[in-house]
Amino acid sequence: MEIKDLTLDREGLIEAIATEDAAFDEQLRAAAYRTKIATVGEKVYLRGLIEISNICVKNCLYCGIRHDIPCQRYELSDDEVLSAAQAAARRHFGSVVIQGGERTDAAFIRKVTRLLKAIKAIDTGEDPPLGITLSLGEQPREVYQEWFEAGAHRYLLRIESSNPNLYRRIHPDDPLHSYERRMQAILDLKEIGYQAGTGAMIGVPFQTTQDLADDLLLYKKLDVPMVGMGPYNPHPDSPLTLSGATYPTAERRFTLGLKMIALLRLLMPDINIAAATSLEALSDSGRVKGILSGANVIMPNVTPEEQMIKYNLYDRKTLVRDGSLKLSLPDDIPVGYGAWGDSLHFKR
Ligand code: SAM
Ligand code: SF4
Repeated sequence: MEIKDLTLDREGLIEAIATEDAAFDEQLRAAAYRTKIATVGEKVYLRGLIEISNICVKNCLYCGIRHDIPCQRYELSDDEVLSAAQAAARRHFGSVVIQGGERTDAAFIRKVTRLLKAIKAIDTGEDPPLGITLSLGEQPREVYQEWFEAGAHRYLLRIESSNPNLYRRIHPDDPLHSYERRMQAILDLKEIGYQAGTGAMIGVPFQTTQDLADDLLLYKKLDVPMVGMGPYNPHPDSPLTLSGATYPTAERRFTLGLKMIALLRLLMPDINIAAATSLEALSDSGRVKGILSGANVIMPNVTPEEQMIKYNLYDRKTLVRDGSLKLSLPDDIPVGYGAWGDSLHFKR
Protein backbone atom coordinates (compact mmCIF):
# COMPACT_ATOMS: atom_id res chain seq x y z
CA MET A 1 0.00 0.00 0.00
CA GLU A 2 1.23 3.52 -0.83
CA ILE A 3 0.57 6.53 1.36
CA LYS A 4 -0.93 8.37 -1.62
CA ASP A 5 -3.63 5.68 -1.78
CA LEU A 6 -4.68 6.14 1.86
CA THR A 7 -8.27 7.23 2.42
CA LEU A 8 -9.65 8.00 5.85
CA ASP A 9 -13.00 6.29 5.42
CA ARG A 10 -13.73 2.95 7.11
CA GLU A 11 -12.40 0.85 4.22
CA GLY A 12 -9.21 2.91 3.95
CA LEU A 13 -8.58 2.77 7.69
CA ILE A 14 -9.10 -0.99 7.79
CA GLU A 15 -6.66 -1.47 4.91
CA ALA A 16 -4.05 0.79 6.50
CA ILE A 17 -4.34 -0.96 9.87
CA ALA A 18 -4.14 -4.43 8.34
CA THR A 19 -1.12 -3.61 6.18
CA GLU A 20 2.10 -5.02 7.60
CA ASP A 21 4.57 -3.04 5.52
CA ALA A 22 7.38 -1.20 7.29
CA ALA A 23 7.88 1.28 4.42
CA PHE A 24 4.17 2.24 4.42
CA ASP A 25 4.13 2.58 8.20
CA GLU A 26 7.15 4.86 8.11
CA GLN A 27 5.56 7.10 5.47
CA LEU A 28 2.32 7.17 7.47
CA ARG A 29 4.08 8.20 10.69
CA ALA A 30 6.05 10.90 8.85
CA ALA A 31 2.85 12.28 7.27
CA ALA A 32 1.14 12.33 10.68
CA TYR A 33 4.11 14.10 12.28
CA ARG A 34 4.01 16.77 9.56
CA THR A 35 0.28 17.21 10.17
CA LYS A 36 0.87 17.52 13.91
CA ILE A 37 3.44 20.27 13.38
CA ALA A 38 1.19 22.11 10.94
CA THR A 39 -1.86 21.99 13.25
CA VAL A 40 -1.02 21.75 16.97
CA GLY A 41 2.59 22.80 16.55
CA GLU A 42 5.97 21.33 17.40
CA LYS A 43 5.69 21.38 21.17
CA VAL A 44 5.16 18.38 23.40
CA TYR A 45 3.10 19.05 26.54
CA LEU A 46 3.80 17.28 29.79
CA ARG A 47 1.38 16.17 32.50
CA GLY A 48 2.80 14.79 35.74
CA LEU A 49 0.98 11.50 36.36
CA ILE A 50 -0.06 10.92 39.97
CA GLU A 51 -1.37 7.40 40.59
CA ILE A 52 -3.47 8.21 43.63
CA SER A 53 -4.61 4.70 44.56
CA ASN A 54 -4.72 1.13 43.25
CA ILE A 55 -7.92 0.34 45.15
CA CYS A 56 -10.69 -0.42 42.65
CA VAL A 57 -14.27 -1.62 42.91
CA LYS A 58 -14.22 -3.03 39.39
CA ASN A 59 -12.99 -6.23 37.84
CA CYS A 60 -11.98 -5.48 34.24
CA LEU A 61 -10.64 -8.81 33.00
CA TYR A 62 -7.35 -7.38 31.68
CA CYS A 63 -6.28 -5.20 34.57
CA GLY A 64 -3.56 -5.93 37.12
CA ILE A 65 -5.22 -3.90 39.90
CA ARG A 66 -8.76 -5.25 39.41
CA HIS A 67 -10.69 -5.76 42.63
CA ASP A 68 -10.27 -9.53 42.85
CA ILE A 69 -6.55 -9.72 42.08
CA PRO A 70 -4.49 -10.28 45.22
CA CYS A 71 -2.03 -7.38 45.43
CA GLN A 72 -0.86 -4.89 48.02
CA ARG A 73 -3.23 -1.92 47.97
CA TYR A 74 -2.32 1.70 48.69
CA GLU A 75 -3.83 5.14 48.73
CA LEU A 76 -1.59 8.20 48.65
CA SER A 77 -2.08 10.62 51.56
CA ASP A 78 -3.06 14.23 50.81
CA ASP A 79 0.54 15.25 51.54
CA GLU A 80 1.92 12.68 49.11
CA VAL A 81 -0.40 13.87 46.33
CA LEU A 82 0.47 17.51 46.98
CA SER A 83 4.21 16.77 47.09
CA ALA A 84 3.92 14.95 43.76
CA ALA A 85 2.01 17.91 42.28
CA GLN A 86 4.67 20.28 43.63
CA ALA A 87 7.38 18.10 42.06
CA ALA A 88 5.55 18.38 38.72
CA ALA A 89 5.35 22.16 39.17
CA ARG A 90 9.07 22.36 39.99
CA ARG A 91 9.80 20.50 36.76
CA HIS A 92 7.52 23.07 34.98
CA PHE A 93 5.17 20.38 33.68
CA GLY A 94 2.21 22.80 33.62
CA SER A 95 -0.38 20.11 34.40
CA VAL A 96 -0.98 16.98 36.42
CA VAL A 97 -3.16 13.93 35.85
CA ILE A 98 -4.69 12.23 38.87
CA GLN A 99 -5.42 8.63 37.97
CA GLY A 100 -6.56 5.67 40.01
CA GLY A 101 -8.82 2.71 40.47
CA GLU A 102 -12.53 3.41 40.40
CA ARG A 103 -14.05 4.33 43.77
CA THR A 104 -17.34 5.97 44.50
CA ASP A 105 -17.24 6.08 48.32
CA ALA A 106 -17.95 9.44 49.91
CA ALA A 107 -14.56 9.70 51.65
CA PHE A 108 -12.69 9.31 48.36
CA ILE A 109 -14.92 11.77 46.52
CA ARG A 110 -14.41 14.37 49.26
CA LYS A 111 -10.67 13.72 49.24
CA VAL A 112 -10.42 14.36 45.49
CA THR A 113 -12.44 17.59 45.84
CA ARG A 114 -10.15 18.73 48.67
CA LEU A 115 -7.03 17.89 46.67
CA LEU A 116 -8.25 19.67 43.55
CA LYS A 117 -8.68 22.88 45.53
CA ALA A 118 -5.28 22.45 47.19
CA ILE A 119 -3.49 21.78 43.89
CA LYS A 120 -5.11 24.85 42.35
CA ALA A 121 -3.73 26.88 45.25
CA ILE A 122 -0.10 25.75 44.69
CA ASP A 123 2.03 28.75 43.86
CA THR A 124 3.95 27.53 40.82
CA GLY A 125 5.49 30.92 40.20
CA GLU A 126 3.93 30.60 36.76
CA ASP A 127 0.69 31.72 35.24
CA PRO A 128 -1.60 29.73 34.85
CA PRO A 129 -1.60 27.52 37.99
CA LEU A 130 -1.30 23.76 37.43
CA GLY A 131 -3.91 22.36 35.03
CA ILE A 132 -5.62 19.20 36.27
CA THR A 133 -6.83 16.14 34.37
CA LEU A 134 -8.71 13.42 36.22
CA SER A 135 -8.89 9.75 35.28
CA LEU A 136 -10.91 8.14 38.05
CA GLY A 137 -13.42 6.08 36.13
CA GLU A 138 -17.19 6.28 36.03
CA GLN A 139 -18.82 8.54 38.60
CA PRO A 140 -22.31 9.92 39.11
CA ARG A 141 -22.85 13.11 37.12
CA GLU A 142 -23.01 15.23 40.31
CA VAL A 143 -19.54 14.02 41.28
CA TYR A 144 -18.14 15.01 37.88
CA GLN A 145 -19.82 18.38 38.40
CA GLU A 146 -18.35 18.79 41.91
CA TRP A 147 -14.84 17.98 40.70
CA PHE A 148 -15.21 20.33 37.71
CA GLU A 149 -16.20 23.16 40.04
CA ALA A 150 -13.27 22.30 42.33
CA GLY A 151 -10.78 22.85 39.49
CA ALA A 152 -10.48 19.78 37.22
CA HIS A 153 -10.87 20.76 33.58
CA ARG A 154 -9.93 17.60 31.66
CA TYR A 155 -11.12 14.01 32.22
CA LEU A 156 -9.85 10.86 30.59
CA LEU A 157 -12.29 7.96 30.41
CA ARG A 158 -11.44 5.34 27.84
CA ILE A 159 -14.37 3.59 26.23
CA GLU A 160 -11.95 0.60 25.96
CA SER A 161 -13.60 -0.56 22.73
CA SER A 162 -16.07 0.93 20.27
CA ASN A 163 -17.55 -2.54 19.84
CA PRO A 164 -20.06 -3.33 22.64
CA ASN A 165 -19.64 -7.06 21.99
CA LEU A 166 -15.87 -6.86 22.43
CA TYR A 167 -16.40 -4.68 25.52
CA ARG A 168 -18.52 -7.47 27.00
CA ARG A 169 -15.85 -10.08 26.31
CA ILE A 170 -13.16 -8.20 28.23
CA HIS A 171 -15.32 -7.15 31.17
CA PRO A 172 -17.50 -9.13 33.58
CA ASP A 173 -21.09 -9.33 32.41
CA ASP A 174 -22.78 -7.33 35.17
CA PRO A 175 -24.26 -3.84 35.68
CA LEU A 176 -21.02 -2.50 37.17
CA HIS A 177 -19.29 -3.07 33.84
CA SER A 178 -21.82 -1.65 31.41
CA TYR A 179 -20.81 -0.31 27.99
CA GLU A 180 -23.89 1.92 27.92
CA ARG A 181 -23.09 3.42 31.31
CA ARG A 182 -19.50 4.13 30.27
CA MET A 183 -20.64 5.84 27.10
CA GLN A 184 -23.14 7.91 29.08
CA ALA A 185 -20.35 8.97 31.45
CA ILE A 186 -18.31 10.31 28.52
CA LEU A 187 -21.34 12.27 27.30
CA ASP A 188 -21.92 13.63 30.85
CA LEU A 189 -18.31 14.83 31.03
CA LYS A 190 -18.65 16.61 27.69
CA GLU A 191 -21.89 18.28 28.71
CA ILE A 192 -20.49 19.52 32.00
CA GLY A 193 -17.73 21.29 30.10
CA TYR A 194 -14.69 19.07 30.63
CA GLN A 195 -12.21 18.50 27.86
CA ALA A 196 -13.30 14.88 27.78
CA GLY A 197 -10.83 12.38 26.42
CA THR A 198 -11.39 8.79 25.54
CA GLY A 199 -9.48 5.91 23.99
CA ALA A 200 -9.12 2.16 23.80
CA MET A 201 -6.56 -0.58 24.22
CA ILE A 202 -4.87 -1.73 21.04
CA GLY A 203 -4.18 -5.41 20.42
CA VAL A 204 -6.47 -6.80 23.08
CA PRO A 205 -7.68 -10.43 22.67
CA PHE A 206 -10.66 -10.87 20.28
CA GLN A 207 -10.12 -7.40 18.72
CA THR A 208 -10.30 -7.21 14.92
CA THR A 209 -8.86 -4.73 12.44
CA GLN A 210 -12.43 -3.52 11.89
CA ASP A 211 -12.79 -2.83 15.62
CA LEU A 212 -9.65 -0.67 15.55
CA ALA A 213 -10.92 1.32 12.56
CA ASP A 214 -14.27 1.75 14.32
CA ASP A 215 -12.46 2.98 17.46
CA LEU A 216 -10.94 5.81 15.40
CA LEU A 217 -14.29 6.61 13.80
CA LEU A 218 -15.95 6.67 17.22
CA TYR A 219 -13.48 9.29 18.51
CA LYS A 220 -14.33 11.36 15.46
CA LYS A 221 -18.08 10.88 15.95
CA LEU A 222 -17.86 11.80 19.63
CA ASP A 223 -15.80 14.82 18.55
CA VAL A 224 -13.52 14.44 21.57
CA PRO A 225 -10.75 17.01 22.05
CA MET A 226 -8.25 14.45 23.34
CA VAL A 227 -7.48 10.76 23.04
CA GLY A 228 -5.28 8.51 25.15
CA MET A 229 -5.00 5.05 23.63
CA GLY A 230 -2.21 2.54 23.89
CA PRO A 231 -1.19 -1.06 23.35
CA TYR A 232 -2.71 -3.76 25.52
CA ASN A 233 -0.06 -5.46 27.62
CA PRO A 234 -0.95 -8.66 29.46
CA HIS A 235 -0.80 -8.96 33.24
CA PRO A 236 0.29 -12.50 34.17
CA ASP A 237 -2.50 -13.02 36.74
CA SER A 238 -5.43 -11.39 34.95
CA PRO A 239 -8.37 -13.59 33.91
CA LEU A 240 -7.83 -12.56 30.30
CA THR A 241 -4.23 -13.82 30.33
CA LEU A 242 -5.11 -16.95 32.31
CA SER A 243 -7.90 -17.76 29.83
CA GLY A 244 -5.23 -18.38 27.20
CA ALA A 245 -6.93 -16.02 24.73
CA THR A 246 -4.45 -15.01 22.04
CA TYR A 247 -3.38 -11.50 21.09
CA PRO A 248 -0.81 -9.96 18.71
CA THR A 249 2.91 -10.13 19.49
CA ALA A 250 4.55 -7.34 21.48
CA GLU A 251 6.16 -6.05 18.29
CA ARG A 252 2.85 -5.97 16.44
CA ARG A 253 1.03 -4.31 19.35
CA PHE A 254 3.71 -1.64 19.46
CA THR A 255 3.60 -1.03 15.70
CA LEU A 256 -0.20 -0.95 15.83
CA GLY A 257 -0.04 1.53 18.72
CA LEU A 258 2.07 3.93 16.64
CA LYS A 259 -0.07 3.36 13.55
CA MET A 260 -3.29 4.17 15.43
CA ILE A 261 -1.75 7.45 16.67
CA ALA A 262 -0.68 8.36 13.13
CA LEU A 263 -4.08 7.58 11.60
CA LEU A 264 -5.89 9.50 14.34
CA ARG A 265 -3.68 12.54 13.81
CA LEU A 266 -4.65 12.53 10.12
CA LEU A 267 -8.34 11.98 10.99
CA MET A 268 -8.53 14.59 13.78
CA PRO A 269 -5.62 16.98 13.11
CA ASP A 270 -6.12 19.47 15.97
CA ILE A 271 -6.84 17.25 18.98
CA ASN A 272 -4.48 16.33 21.82
CA ILE A 273 -3.14 12.79 21.53
CA ALA A 274 -1.21 11.21 24.39
CA ALA A 275 1.73 8.87 23.87
CA ALA A 276 0.70 6.23 26.42
CA THR A 277 2.92 4.66 29.06
CA SER A 278 2.14 1.22 27.61
CA LEU A 279 4.18 2.18 24.51
CA GLU A 280 7.19 2.74 26.77
CA ALA A 281 6.68 -0.64 28.43
CA LEU A 282 7.05 -2.27 25.00
CA SER A 283 9.99 -0.31 23.64
CA ASP A 284 12.70 2.02 24.93
CA SER A 285 11.66 5.60 24.19
CA GLY A 286 8.31 4.20 23.08
CA ARG A 287 6.56 7.45 24.00
CA VAL A 288 9.02 9.52 21.96
CA LYS A 289 8.26 7.22 19.02
CA GLY A 290 4.59 8.00 19.76
CA ILE A 291 5.37 11.72 19.52
CA LEU A 292 7.18 11.17 16.22
CA SER A 293 4.03 9.38 15.00
CA GLY A 294 1.77 12.37 15.72
CA ALA A 295 1.09 12.42 19.49
CA ASN A 296 1.70 15.68 21.38
CA VAL A 297 1.30 14.83 25.09
CA ILE A 298 3.45 12.75 27.46
CA MET A 299 2.56 11.94 31.05
CA PRO A 300 5.77 11.40 33.04
CA ASN A 301 5.09 9.48 36.23
CA VAL A 302 5.60 11.54 39.40
CA THR A 303 4.04 9.02 41.83
CA PRO A 304 6.34 8.18 44.78
CA GLU A 305 8.30 5.12 43.66
CA GLU A 306 7.32 2.95 46.63
CA GLN A 307 3.64 3.22 45.63
CA MET A 308 4.16 3.46 41.88
CA ILE A 309 5.46 -0.12 41.75
CA LYS A 310 2.13 -1.26 43.22
CA TYR A 311 0.19 0.38 40.37
CA ASN A 312 1.00 -2.69 38.35
CA LEU A 313 -1.55 -2.64 35.54
CA TYR A 314 0.41 -4.92 33.21
CA ASP A 315 3.72 -6.61 32.55
CA ARG A 316 6.73 -4.23 32.58
CA LYS A 317 4.59 -1.19 33.54
CA THR A 318 6.62 -0.55 36.69
CA LEU A 319 9.88 -0.53 34.70
CA VAL A 320 8.85 2.82 33.24
CA ARG A 321 10.71 5.31 35.43
CA ASP A 322 10.65 8.95 34.55
CA GLY A 323 13.47 10.61 36.46
CA SER A 324 15.36 11.31 33.26
CA LEU A 325 12.55 11.57 30.73
CA LYS A 326 13.70 15.02 29.60
CA LEU A 327 16.93 13.46 28.36
CA SER A 328 15.16 10.98 26.11
CA LEU A 329 13.31 13.68 24.16
CA PRO A 330 15.41 14.63 21.13
CA ASP A 331 16.83 18.18 21.37
CA ASP A 332 14.89 19.35 18.33
CA ILE A 333 11.50 18.60 19.95
CA PRO A 334 10.51 21.63 22.01
CA VAL A 335 8.62 21.15 25.28
CA GLY A 336 5.73 23.40 26.32
CA TYR A 337 7.04 23.95 29.84
CA GLY A 338 4.73 25.70 32.29
CA ALA A 339 1.78 25.61 29.85
CA TRP A 340 -1.50 23.68 30.02
CA GLY A 341 -1.30 22.68 26.39
CA ASP A 342 -5.06 22.57 26.08
CA SER A 343 -6.64 20.98 23.07
CA LEU A 344 -6.84 23.37 20.13
CA HIS A 345 -9.88 21.41 18.97
CA PHE A 346 -11.66 22.18 22.26
CA LYS A 347 -10.86 25.88 22.01
CA ARG A 348 -12.24 26.00 18.50
N1 SAM B 1 -9.92 3.13 36.73
C1 SAM B 1 -9.98 4.13 35.75
C2 SAM B 1 -10.56 3.61 34.47
O1 SAM B 1 -10.52 2.40 34.26
O2 SAM B 1 -11.02 4.42 33.65
C3 SAM B 1 -8.66 4.79 35.46
C4 SAM B 1 -7.45 3.95 35.72
S1 SAM B 1 -7.29 2.57 34.61
C5 SAM B 1 -5.92 1.73 35.30
C6 SAM B 1 -6.58 3.41 33.18
C7 SAM B 1 -6.50 2.58 31.93
O3 SAM B 1 -5.56 1.54 32.09
C8 SAM B 1 -7.76 1.88 31.52
O4 SAM B 1 -8.64 2.73 30.83
C9 SAM B 1 -7.22 0.74 30.64
O5 SAM B 1 -7.39 1.00 29.26
C10 SAM B 1 -5.72 0.72 30.97
N2 SAM B 1 -5.28 -0.66 31.26
C11 SAM B 1 -5.68 -1.47 32.25
N3 SAM B 1 -5.11 -2.69 32.11
C12 SAM B 1 -4.33 -2.63 31.00
C13 SAM B 1 -3.52 -3.58 30.32
N4 SAM B 1 -3.39 -4.83 30.76
N5 SAM B 1 -2.86 -3.16 29.22
C14 SAM B 1 -2.97 -1.88 28.77
N6 SAM B 1 -3.74 -0.97 29.36
C15 SAM B 1 -4.43 -1.33 30.46
FE1 SF4 C 1 -10.32 -0.68 37.89
FE2 SF4 C 1 -9.66 0.94 35.85
FE3 SF4 C 1 -8.39 -1.43 36.26
FE4 SF4 C 1 -10.91 -1.43 35.40
S1 SF4 C 1 -9.10 -0.60 34.31
S2 SF4 C 1 -10.09 -2.71 37.04
S3 SF4 C 1 -11.75 0.33 36.47
S4 SF4 C 1 -8.36 0.37 37.57
